Amino acid sequence: MKIRYFDHAATTAVKEEVLKEMLPYFSLEYGNASSLYSIGRKSKKAIDTARHQVAKAINCEPKEVYFTSCGSESDNLALKGVAYANKNKGNHIITTKIEHPAIMQTCATLEKQGYEVTYLNVDKDGLINLQELENSIKDTTILISIMFANNEIGTIQPIKEIGEIAKRHQIFFHTDAVQAIGNVRIDVDYLNIDLLSMSAHKFYGPKGVGALYVRKGIEFERIQDGGHQEKNKRAGTENVAGIVGLGKAIELAYKNFDQYNEKLTKLRDYYISQIEEKIPNAKLNGHRTKRLPGNTNISFKGVDGQLLLLKLDENGICASSGSACTSGSLDPSHVLVAIGLPPEYAQGSLRVTIGDENTKEDVDYLIKLLGTGLNSLTK
Ligand SMILES: *Cc1c(COP(=O)(O)O)cnc(C)c1O
Repeated sequence: MKIRYFDHAATTAVKEEVLKEMLPYFSLEYGNASSLYSIGRKSKKAIDTARHQVAKAINCEPKEVYFTSCGSESDNLALKGVAYANKNKGNHIITTKIEHPAIMQTCATLEKQGYEVTYLNVDKDGLINLQELENSIKDTTILISIMFANNEIGTIQPIKEIGEIAKRHQIFFHTDAVQAIGNVRIDVDYLNIDLLSMSAHKFYGPKGVGALYVRKGIEFERIQDGGHQEKNKRAGTENVAGIVGLGKAIELAYKNFDQYNEKLTKLRDYYISQIEEKIPNAKLNGHRTKRLPGNTNISFKGVDGQLLLLKLDENGICASSGSACTSGSLDPSHVLVAIGLPPEYAQGSLRVTIGDENTKEDVDYLIKLLGTGLNSLTK
């Protein structure tokens, strides 16, 4: 059976061109980037190239880019790093109720360590309220961390406006841009972003490598002790092949940006309109237009989401209910709760995230399957 993959928010396949760049760094150019001999220097040079590729993609300086092991580590390093280094200035952090667990759980840890965290509400589309953000700022606020785009419902936040508020109050602004890289144009200066997390496997790069951008001059503490790698901010021998892959993947993502964006947006809107037309009691979650080009999240009233996923899997479809991190548990996701979705809808939500290799034929197959298969799944 043909597998049709519609879970690009969970992970993506490494592109051929990316893999090709990575391969020499496994067993040919395997030198430690900290070593002085030639194969070590080659590894160092490859990492430098990737740092430039990242810097070019988000308009920062190469020295403002720190490589990590994943998006989760970047989030941890941003929040804990800034919180620990700035505790003399204050202990208050502002975030939202719809962040990825990498932010949510880091905030929970910081609360146990004496930090105070405000979790902003979102409206029915998943957007924060800028006035509520401004009202929640205190003398002790040191950091605002708001995700660029949500991994479950795809809603894109008003990042520039958030950045302006943060700047006006002289508070650092971090954004988890793991879902946004490759899907939204990002200029950290224009958007007033001080720290930004990314992860290669969400934009057709390898798993196990991420990056954190930190604007120069911002103090942050390292959270992993050891060697002096990454300007003494992230100990551990560099994942050279992975870093090379991240660099190539981000370069490709912005090289083909317009074409990719247009293709995904078209397929997304086609899928949404067809489902709304053909299936009664289907409800789109997330903002209709301020959303990631490949993201759809639709709730089918009274349908058992877990059964639906199984049925789709039997027919070669890979999709998700809520997010990969929460599927398997029966609680509705914290994101769907935050947008106020009633339980009879939340239980039957289906996240279909479209990517580069999907075709209209794939989407038509899925629409047909949903159109004929849902009746048997209604509770
Ligand atoms: C996937 C994801 C992460 C975690 O990235 P990993 O590289 O898998 O650790 C963090 N935030 C968001 C929004 C994500 O989608």
